[in-house]
This record gives sequence, structure tokens and C-alpha cells, in this order.
Amino acid sequence: MSIGQRDAQLLKLREMIFGSKIVSMAICPECQERLEITFNVTDILIESAAGEAAVFSFETDGYNVRFRLPNSLDLYGVLDPTEIDQARQMLFERCVVKTSEHGKEISANELPPRIMQAVIKHMAQVDPQADVRVALICSACGHKWNAFFDIVSFFWSEVSALTKRLLREVHILASTYGWCENDILTLSPVRRQIYMDLIQE
Ligand SMILES: [Zn+2]
Repeated sequence: MSIGQRDAQLLKLREMIFGSKIVSMAICPECQERLEITFNVTDILIESAAGEAAVFSFETDGYNVRFRLPNSLDLYGVLDPTEIDQARQMLFERCVVKTSEHGKEISANELPPRIMQAVIKHMAQVDPQADVRVALICSACGHKWNAFFDIVSFFWSEVSALTKRLLREVHILASTYGWCENDILTLSPVRRQIYMDLIQE
């Protein structure tokens, strides 16, 4: 899956588990005001036919670049470099399948920076879900900007918080009643909460 396809699936999964409404925080780059932002999964879900297996072709100024879209393994493969430019170059070279200049084959690192930038821009257009921006206006200073929204880190922090809460409930109910973990997790959330309230009475 391309990053965009993966993120679209994660958005749908997030909607199934926690619902459509997303409440997140953003900090105004101008005045550092903390803003609460609210939107729905459908507001940022883009239906796209882009596929990881597909090879795309981009032509400009006599250069032809055939590339595939970056996937999660590509991102994982460039985690080590501390320099963002180095990581970008490595990611680019992983995804380039074939490059040529006026019909003569060249390697990806021989492409002029402006051609590389144009290809990267084209990649983003082919896989728009990979780079979701939310238009924001600061309520304190009126500054307008587009904030990047990353479903991976957002959804992960939600799942992590839910897991910690569930484990805490298991711990308290198991300690109090001697029930096993599986039985506690089989209880509906409402029923579990009633027992939690009874313990705290
Ligand atoms: Zn502001």
C-alpha cells in the first residue's frame, strides 16, 4: 500500500472504533496560541486509485522518471539518517524505478535537484491522501495556515490511551473480584463501568 492508501484504511478503521469526529490540537505558528481543531473523517478522506504496485511516469525538460509511490517499508528504511535532506534523497532513490535524459538512461542521483523536486511534487499529486492539510485560522491573532494532520500518530495515541484505561480496569476488577482478564474484557463497557463505580463507592 502507498502511504495514502494506508492512511485511508487507518482513517476508516479509526471511524469504526472511535467514530467520525476528530478533535485535535494545533499551535499557532505566529502567536503560539493552542487551538482545538474539530473535523470529521469524511472531511479528509480522499478516494484515490493510486496503488503501490503501479509505476508512474513523469516527463519534463527531456527527463523521464518512472517511479512508484513510497510505502511504509520505504519510510521505515530511511528512519536512521538524522539529516532530513539525506532521508528525502534516500526515499526518492528507493522509489525511482528508471530515469533517463533525452532517452539515455541515468541514475536517480544524477537528476538535477529541480527535476527531483518536480517528481516529488507529482508524487504528492498522485497520492493526495499521504499529505493531509487542514486549513486553520487562529482565534487569537487571525493567522491562516495549513496544518499537517498525521493519522498514524493521532490514532496510535488514541489506541494507546484506550489500552492503558482497559488494563487499569482489568487490574482493579481482577484485584477486587478475582475474575480473569478474558472475562473482564468480555463485559460490555457500560457493565464494566458500573462495577468500577461500585468499587469506588
Ligand atoms: Zn495566532
